[in-house]
Amino acid sequence: MFKTIIEPFRIKSVEPLHMTTTAERRQKIEEAHHNVFLLRSDDVLIDLLTDSGTGAMSTEQWAAIMRGDESYAGSPSFYRFEKAVIDLMGFPCVIPTHQGRAAERILFAVMCRQGDVVLNNTHFDTTRANVEFTGATAIDLPCPESRDLASMYPFKGNMDLAGLRQAFATYGRERIPLVMMTLTNNSGGGQPASLHNIREVAQICREQRTPFYIDACRIAENAYFIKQREAEHKSKSVKTIVAEICSLADGCTMSAKKDGLANIGGFLATRDKEVARQEKDLLILTEGFPTYGGLAGRDLDAIAQGLKEVVEEDYLHYRIVSTGYLGEHLTANGVPILQPPGGHAIYLDAARFAPHLGPLDLPGIALTVALYVTGGLRAVEIGTAMFGHRDPKTGDEHPGPKELVRLAIPRRVYTQSHIDYVIEVVTEVHRRRAELRPYRFVEQAPFLRHFTGRYRPQ
Ligand SMILES: *Cc1c(COP(=O)(O)O)cnc(C)c1O
Repeated sequence: MFKTIIEPFRIKSVEPLHMTTTAERRQKIEEAHHNVFLLRSDDVLIDLLTDSGTGAMSTEQWAAIMRGDESYAGSPSFYRFEKAVIDLMGFPCVIPTHQGRAAERILFAVMCRQGDVVLNNTHFDTTRANVEFTGATAIDLPCPESRDLASMYPFKGNMDLAGLRQAFATYGRERIPLVMMTLTNNSGGGQPASLHNIREVAQICREQRTPFYIDACRIAENAYFIKQREAEHKSKSVKTIVAEICSLADGCTMSAKKDGLANIGGFLATRDKEVARQEKDLLILTEGFPTYGGLAGRDLDAIAQGLKEVVEEDYLHYRIVSTGYLGEHLTANGVPILQPPGGHAIYLDAARFAPHLGPLDLPGIALTVALYVTGGLRAVEIGTAMFGHRDPKTGDEHPGPKELVRLAIPRRVYTQSHIDYVIEVVTEVHRRRAELRPYRFVEQAPFLRHFTGRYRPQ
């Protein structure tokens, strides 16, 4: 009836933001060698670096924290956690881990051998690293529609089905220990996959007798997009859609720092008891006993409550609409973004934003620096600094596949006026885009160089 979408919560505890002047921010970013990862978060006004573990917990989650039981083995917190995962996803074997990448490390250590090939719509960076650490190769099969950043195709997170069939023909199923789908597709712009596409992938895997796993970090957001965009599912609840997705899979990995609505935690889950047994053996080696897996009992309780809240449709409506609001207003102001808006983030298209800069001029770094200096925003470059590389022999720089800058929205943290402010700042930087200068690395690590790299403007 009313067109204003309000935050479906009110605020009980507030955290002051630290205001700074442009001159102060210019000095801070120089001290940080023009790398926003090296800023102190106190010096950031609106922090859109990541939506991972940065969300606000609810009163019920804080109450759950107090209920947490810190027994080493067999804690009631574990049983509440296990029940919450089974109620939502239906996988019978549930193994807690300290975050998503620990679940990935254990899953791939159990499933992969040297020379194997793992297929995914798009591997997240930690997923790819954990696959490759086992000696297997990680291959991305994004759908062809995802290549055009400006198109409004509703399911750009889909897997390329012809590519999947072709991969089975090329490598043979003996070399493919599992196929995975990342929902939503984080590295592909937070774009969802359709239930139709997920079903087709599951069917191909069944024909090939190959396990099908889900990277479930944002499965509630993906399910909400399915409800909105795939007509035949519009009358189903999000919880039902999540259950339906999981019913097609053999298991999942999960970072509870995303759709677990918690600040830390993760899990892996499977239907295969023998796989679960091997996973638990590895878990004990580095994470801990299988009823806590590197987490405190209170974390398990916070996640159990978070998994109930994340499928509430008022919450998801607000979440997806507020991210979309940012994307639509930026688009209306002429700012080029990856379309359509994703679930957890808006990705600025830095190549079109600053067409006077080539990939080796690090346009995304120029843009993140300008967003910080202009308005105290912290965003993250997802371009040549993150995914390009320097040839260790020749010293030549090689560009990454795309030049993006991600504005990730922490869950339940910022209000509409904060987002209106973000729109103003980005629009102002865009108006003055001709002033963006080329950047170069002055120092870089041999891997994951974007975290610690130092830059200077040319
Ligand atoms: C964050 C993330 C992970 C890794 O989870 P961590 O909790 O950060 O270790 C894996 N896959 C996707 C899609 C993610 O977004």
